[in-house]
Amino acid sequence: MQTNDTALVVFSGGQDSTTCLAWALSRFNRVETLGFDYGQRHSIELECRTNVLARLREQYRDWSEKLGQDTLLTLNVFQQLGETALTHDVEIAMTQSGLPSTFVPGRNLVFMTLAGAQAYRRGLKHLVTGVCETDFSGYPDCRDDTMKALQVALNLGMETRLVIDTPLMRLTKAQTWRLARELGGQPLVDLILEHTHTCYKGERGHRHPWGHGCGVCPACELRSAGFELFLETE
Ligand code: ZN
Repeated sequence: MQTNDTALVVFSGGQDSTTCLAWALSRFNRVETLGFDYGQRHSIELECRTNVLARLREQYRDWSEKLGQDTLLTLNVFQQLGETALTHDVEIAMTQSGLPSTFVPGRNLVFMTLAGAQAYRRGLKHLVTGVCETDFSGYPDCRDDTMKALQVALNLGMETRLVIDTPLMRLTKAQTWRLARELGGQPLVDLILEHTHTCYKGERGHRHPWGHGCGVCPACELRSAGFELFLETE
């Protein structure tokens, strides 16, 4: 049975989806997580994922009681479809289409459809995703319009009433840090800094003030600029 206070969070182990998970845990009574192993070049993301979940359970007793099962789906179809900088060893750059080579066409559409199917089966009402159109790299599948259209399509196609929640849609990276602090205090900011993964190159490497990563890829640049602004605007 689907009740209003239940949610499925699309959780990758990055800064954004960890903040979304905290957001869902502070709002809903039963929260489950879903992740995808889609042949990412770097399995570090999947390691961070498990680690972040374990630490959230350990540090936040209230949330731990609400946090239900985690599911990891394996999808190797994106590699079969062709090369992107996230799944293959190609350079991270702008392509002729005006989108970065890290864009995996259809990825979020497929992820959200599978998340819808999982939510349906598990009786969960809300689908929570960390997509954002403020600081985003121009990914069309992160747009608010895309998510609204998907919500309609999923509900029509499954004869259900799922709600897609996108708590970060209008936030800058600095505001996302602020939201994390509102939800879980400084310990959550520290947990995200230390244990989440954002770097496109899969490097943990050096611990910068904003966390681990190569420091030069677009994802690291965005994360470091956002964190600096967060500190400056305290
Ligand atoms: Zn990086």
